Amino acid sequence: MPTASDTQLESHFETLPSNQPMADEIRDNILQNPGFGKHFTDHMAHVRWTVDADWHGHQVRPYGPLTLDPAASVLHYGQEIFEGIKAYRHADGSIWTFRPEKNAERFRRSARRLALPELSDDDFISSLKALLAQDHAWVPTPSSDADECSLYLRPFMIASEAFLGVRPAHEVDYYVIASPAAAYFKGGIEPVSIWLSSHYKRAAPGGTGFAKCGGNYAASLAAQKEAAANDCSQVAFLDAAENKWVEELGGMNLFFVYKDGRIVTPRLTDTILEGVTRNSVLTLAKDAGLTPEERPISIDEWREGAASGEITEVFACGTAAVITPVGELVTENERIRLQGDGNNEIAKRIRKTLLDLQYGRSEDKYGWLTRLV
Ligand SMILES: *Cc1c(COP(=O)(O)O)cnc(C)c1O
Repeated sequence: MPTASDTQLESHFETLPSNQPMADEIRDNILQNPGFGKHFTDHMAHVRWTVDADWHGHQVRPYGPLTLDPAASVLHYGQEIFEGIKAYRHADGSIWTFRPEKNAERFRRSARRLALPELSDDDFISSLKALLAQDHAWVPTPSSDADECSLYLRPFMIASEAFLGVRPAHEVDYYVIASPAAAYFKGGIEPVSIWLSSHYKRAAPGGTGFAKCGGNYAASLAAQKEAAANDCSQVAFLDAAENKWVEELGGMNLFFVYKDGRIVTPRLTDTILEGVTRNSVLTLAKDAGLTPEERPISIDEWREGAASGEITEVFACGTAAVITPVGELVTENERIRLQGDGNNEIAKRIRKTLLDLQYGRSEDKYGWLTRLV
């Protein structure tokens, strides 16, 4: 199935095929009910970087544990970044991914902030193609238009130099692993309850909030624990400086739909991660006749808009969960719930538009799809 140009792109990745790939029958069983992030494919992509030799040793090799020196600086100082992107199987069997150049660019941005070396966009996208050339059988086939299965791809970069001094590492490894995925939230598009943490912050000005790094997630887990204790599935964070402006969830961006057709998302700052889904929703919302606005939105505007009925929908978005309506915001002393029918028509409409595009069921008029296999 690969075209000549695809094969050329893969060529700088040497492939060492696994001699113990998962048996077809066991893999097919997993693909029937993959969950999220629990099962991994037979191979992984790897590229090494050293301060002297730059990026080298491009490989696809059997998936397996890493050999890491206990002094590897990632284990001590958290010099790590990652990405999340999906591979979708279309009805004709071909496999595609969505706007990978955006992830490649963000990966370079994250690398700069974490003082890691930048991986070229070509290496980033080629690594996905090279891995999928081996592991394409792991991309689940949707059983219907409502089946949101995919292969979740997780590129990441770690500081692997064995050195306890505090400075950017001189040895770094980049990997891509892949995990078959069903819909992220079991409830499908049932609205979720979100916890508003009153004292934990995810990001601060000048910090790493705009970078996709493990440290941001580590910093969000105590708040996530609070959320779970309050029967909420996610956490919303306010800005660190004024404790007033709505930023985002631990791993998803937020949108607010207004009665008059405006759709508002917090404007990008260095404390907000620029989601590829967020960026795509801004375009698709405009196509749907809505008026997108990127501007600060306060917790007071959320509370008042919900009470007055001015805000009709709130939703979160990201690659893993696509678009998920937010039913209510829960804090230590209040519950902010939207008026109205709770049908989340706009969220559902944009969600469907996005999924139809990703699964090749509608015309790719923006050229957002890249063929992997
Ligand atoms: C990954 C991520 C998102 C969503 O980004 P997508 O590119 O849409 O998947 C939003 N916020 C944070 C903090 C993230 O890490």
